[in-house]
Amino acid sequence: MENFTHAVERKAMAFVIDKLINNVSQTDDYEKRAEVYEEIADIALKFYGDEAKETLESIKTYVRNPENKWMRLINHVIDEANPEYAKKMLLNLGYESFFKGTKTIRENREKYHCNIPWLILFDPTSACNMHCVGCWSGTYGHKSSLSFEDMDKIVTEGKALGAHLYMLTGGEPMVRKNDVLRLCEKHDDCFFAAYTNSTLIDEDLCKKVQKLGNLTFMLSIEGTPDTNDARRGAGHYGSVMKAMDLLKEYGIVFGTSVCYTRANIEAVTSDDFFRMLTDKGAYFGFYFHFMPVGNNAVPELMPTPDQRMYMIRRIREIRSEENPIPFFPMDFQNDGEYVGGCIAGGRNYFHINSNGDAEPCVFIHFSDTNIHTHSILEMLKSPLFMAYHEGQPFNRNHLRPCPMLENPELLRRIVKETNAHQTNEESPEEVDHLCDKCTDYAEAWKPYAEEEWNREEHKKPSYENYTEEKRLHPELAAFEHPVS
Ligand code: SF4
Repeated sequence: MENFTHAVERKAMAFVIDKLINNVSQTDDYEKRAEVYEEIADIALKFYGDEAKETLESIKTYVRNPENKWMRLINHVIDEANPEYAKKMLLNLGYESFFKGTKTIRENREKYHCNIPWLILFDPTSACNMHCVGCWSGTYGHKSSLSFEDMDKIVTEGKALGAHLYMLTGGEPMVRKNDVLRLCEKHDDCFFAAYTNSTLIDEDLCKKVQKLGNLTFMLSIEGTPDTNDARRGAGHYGSVMKAMDLLKEYGIVFGTSVCYTRANIEAVTSDDFFRMLTDKGAYFGFYFHFMPVGNNAVPELMPTPDQRMYMIRRIREIRSEENPIPFFPMDFQNDGEYVGGCIAGGRNYFHINSNGDAEPCVFIHFSDTNIHTHSILEMLKSPLFMAYHEGQPFNRNHLRPCPMLENPELLRRIVKETNAHQTNEESPEEVDHLCDKCTDYAEAWKPYAEEEWNREEHKKPSYENYTEEKRLHPELAAFEHPVS
């Protein structure tokens, strides 16, 4: 019965989205577009009820503002994406994931008393056709892969809990192109994003992805041809440019993935870099702070406190309405304020590596549970994941969100108390070795983060998926800022 109701609801939503996209794409008059967006917000309000009233009312104020960066991003997608691709994306991301999925997730959090994620990351394979300097994926060993059945299990069980968004990491996920496409086809009501080095994106793949409509790509790029190829190898920059041209030609929405280090921070945040990306058709991207993970990691590549301060200001400046560059960057380490701090351990997401080990975060290579022996729900209830559930937020200063990078004593303690094992078979790294590399960094960053955080008042978000009351082990959290 539930499946039947869902099918009917999805069909009705598809009809509404079809009509709305057609109406929006037929006009470039901003006022008319804004009316359609308001209509979408009203439909969402009916679906969600009072629970989302505050958020949806504030969305209605953004849609009237053509300079708002979110609206610019949405308008670019409408104008440049293949219409059928855009409709499927909106249906799967908007309806299945944001509306229906979020509702199911909230119910399941209450029901199961553990974190239930909105997004699951997994590595189809640890194999990669490139060998970038400082990339840990090769250090997992080049032999492990999740079978199609493993990936199918992850998505089937994740979906039942409410997760409709999946990110494929690695290794290079497109080494498993055929299985990835088969997975997207089978789970037609989910949306997938592959973090890729771009080199395996060709015309044939674009044709298939355009037809599927539920797969996007996040292309890794590191600044100028020189800074990029120094880390990724000669000729890689050219491959990314070629992939961007193809994706743009086929109307497939795509973004970028950038790891910022002490060495490349200026190159990956220059006006020229952002302009190049938007000219090529990328309008959004994730920025990841370099993490000293792995025995061979070079801690000296971590940004200095001054560089991190620059990054906070620069990303916010690019996102401001005054900035004319139509790119929307998101900074995984510095945007904790908007998501209530650390999102790992299944609070919003977690990661399954190519051996099937469930890790709380893509950067935390420790595990106490595996997809080959446990269900997703059982994994979320493992001692390691429950320590995240009970410890979050690890710091009330969301500029210091991480139990590893900014609060290394917490990860040290969590891993030891839960007996989690390290997951890097090739070069096992002890938790003390990892956390020791973060101690000086955390100390140096603390005064900067405190000053920046205390510069303004921070409102407690209307919805946080943790509460003080449920906490069984408050000592796992480094509360330095009481909730206001
Ligand atoms: S564990 Fe650290 S890097 Fe991972 S989501 Fe949490 S804060 Fe971010």
